[in-house]
Amino acid sequence: MTIKALVWIRDDLRIEYNSALSFATNNFEQVTALYIYDKEKFDNKREAQKWWLSKSLESFKNDLFKFNINLELVQDKELDTLTKIKSKDEISVYWNKIYEPSELKKDEYLIKYFQNNKINFRIFKGNNLLEFQKVVKNDGTPFKVFTPFWKNAEQKYLDQVPRNVSKIRKLNKVYKLFNNQINIKQILPEKKWHKKFENYWNPSESEAKKYVIDMIKNKIQSYGVNRDYPGINGTSKISPFLRHGQINVENLWKSCQKVKVKSDGFRKYINELGWREFSHSLINNFPEMLKGNLRKEFDKFPWVNNKVFLSAWKEGQTGYPIVDAGMRELYETGWMHNRIRMVVGSFLVKHLRINWKEGEKYFRNCLFDFNEANNVAQWQWVAGCGADAAPYFRIFNPILQGEKFDKEGLYVKKWVPELSKVPNKFIHKPWEMELKHQEAIKTIIGKDYPKPIVIHEKARASALEAFQSLKKK
Ligand SMILES: Cc1cc2nc3c(=O)[nH]c(=O)nc-3n(C[C@H](O)[C@H](O)[C@H](O)COP(=O)(O)OP(=O)(O)OC[C@H]3O[C@@H](n4cnc5c(N)ncnc54)[C@H](O)[C@@H]3O)c2cc1C
Repeated sequence: MTIKALVWIRDDLRIEYNSALSFATNNFEQVTALYIYDKEKFDNKREAQKWWLSKSLESFKNDLFKFNINLELVQDKELDTLTKIKSKDEISVYWNKIYEPSELKKDEYLIKYFQNNKINFRIFKGNNLLEFQKVVKNDGTPFKVFTPFWKNAEQKYLDQVPRNVSKIRKLNKVYKLFNNQINIKQILPEKKWHKKFENYWNPSESEAKKYVIDMIKNKIQSYGVNRDYPGINGTSKISPFLRHGQINVENLWKSCQKVKVKSDGFRKYINELGWREFSHSLINNFPEMLKGNLRKEFDKFPWVNNKVFLSAWKEGQTGYPIVDAGMRELYETGWMHNRIRMVVGSFLVKHLRINWKEGEKYFRNCLFDFNEANNVAQWQWVAGCGADAAPYFRIFNPILQGEKFDKEGLYVKKWVPELSKVPNKFIHKPWEMELKHQEAIKTIIGKDYPKPIVIHEKARASALEAFQSLKKK
């Protein structure tokens, strides 16, 4: 046994229920936590997450320090740093899994390296309720449909002996291992864009706990209804914290189970955690979907390459208020309401017929909660080319979606302030206002706010035609 332990920190920026950290501190006196920042993984790909990560590392460093653990930060390729460890260093290495094919491949590589070099190590369960290999059909094949998947997975989770992760132990002394450390602030995005994120979020483990309490106390019972209305703060907004492991999903699950009234809201919320499990199962069992359509017939789909439309979509300038509000919420806050993610996604792949991969890429760059499993699976769900997906021919009407889920236009007016004087009757179709009314409220459509870049009925018809063409090929 060695005397020193290194905990490789990734998407597990928490003290509570952190298996690797707990094991190391309870078995060693010298423990160092290491985050390896691979800049290439973030530059122009996950810009918003740089902000979240930087803030989170700062607060995690402070939290760890209370236990006499130093959080060290180096900039490198993860495998390059870890394979510099030699057996003479007398270090044991511990980490928690991430259920993404590329991360699991790294584990495989490290297992071989550490075994060959006689370095002690152990990998712990990651931030999912169940490891994806455990949820399969009776014939051993993976599920492609959510409902039977979740019925099986939930039951398995309930049947198993509850896991208990002991608390981390306070050490006597702080240890430092790496000399080439970088400053956490170096991770911040270069653009000033991130400045405004501070108005909306405080990324830390303690904040994650507050979100859980708020969900359980104030939101879960009405979640079944409220979760569809973007103007209401009716969902947990826990996703960025879950993504960075500031809360463990098993702990979140346990907190939910304490709710006395198991209402429809409770059920629906638990089901959403099921969708997260389902996405992870999909990308691991069908890793080809990380590169392209799961349903191969979509490889021939006549996508349109239109840079002007794509920019209008990204900038929230499509002329459809509910779509524009969503895209602006995303850019401003690093998060977007789930119903609106479906609306803007549908608009991109159906009204504009732009490949879902463009949307996936943009969300990846802007979302704090971006994770490979949910983002790819959900984009393919929206586009109709994934597992258990919304059929392509079911096309959201952005006007009706707005009128149904944002009747008073509260959400639209918050994010598209140039429409603040538009009467409710026209808030989701402002171009229908007579010119004299537009003039009276000083909101000229085509000048102060764009005209729709496509006409809904025509775009819908073209999308359906494109879809039909798939069947002929
Ligand atoms: C096109 C598109 C892209 C998406 N990309 C992502 C992504 O990159 N990362 C991400 O975490 N979610 C993604 N989602 C799913 C969903 O929109 C977010 O998880 C949710 O809006 C997060 O807000 P919340 O925490 O308030 O969710 P709540 O409604 O409070 O749900 C609780 C948790 O359940 C999980 N969850 C909820 N809905 C889904 C879902 N449909 N699929 C999988 N898990 C779900 C999330 O972990 C969420 O935090 C995407 C959805 C769409 C339509």
